Amino acid sequence: MREPCPSRRFAADRTLGRLARWLRLLGADVLRDPSLDAAQMLRRARADERTLLTRDKRLRTARDAFYVASNDFRAQLREVMARFHLDPQPAMLSRCSRCNGELRKTDRDAVRRRFPPFVYASQNDFAACDRCGHIYWRATHPERIMRELDAILSFDPGRGGLARPSTEG
Ligand SMILES: [Zn+2]
Repeated sequence: MREPCPSRRFAADRTLGRLARWLRLLGADVLRDPSLDAAQMLRRARADERTLLTRDKRLRTARDAFYVASNDFRAQLREVMARFHLDPQPAMLSRCSRCNGELRKTDRDAVRRRFPPFVYASQNDFAACDRCGHIYWRATHPERIMRELDAILSFDPGRGGLARPSTEG
């Protein structure tokens, strides 16, 4: 068995855009270039020391590739997190889900003009993507993400639906 990818460096084939965005939200470094086909992406991934995440069956047994079996992004996320032992907490929200750039905490005054006054007034923590410049703020965005993640990670396939951990006993 291969070692888990220690630095969380991945490449995703062009069919896995949604998975790529979610992995970035969890802090994983995910390269994606929709102009490349799966075989080209595999070469690119190898040159860059990344593990290719792919839905291409021909790459099922390829070295440095992980075949993602599911069609559904939630199940795909569970597959990848289980295989590579990804823990969502430590690096969460350290990357831009749009472009894979790194987020840096930014000065509150610097982003004042970018938001309606009520947003600005209610938020203390802003982070900016160092690549595309998109600004994230703590409250609304992560709350929605955490809810979705909670649903994804507490999914119990044996019960055919979303399962909440029991509070009894
Ligand atoms: Zn970005």
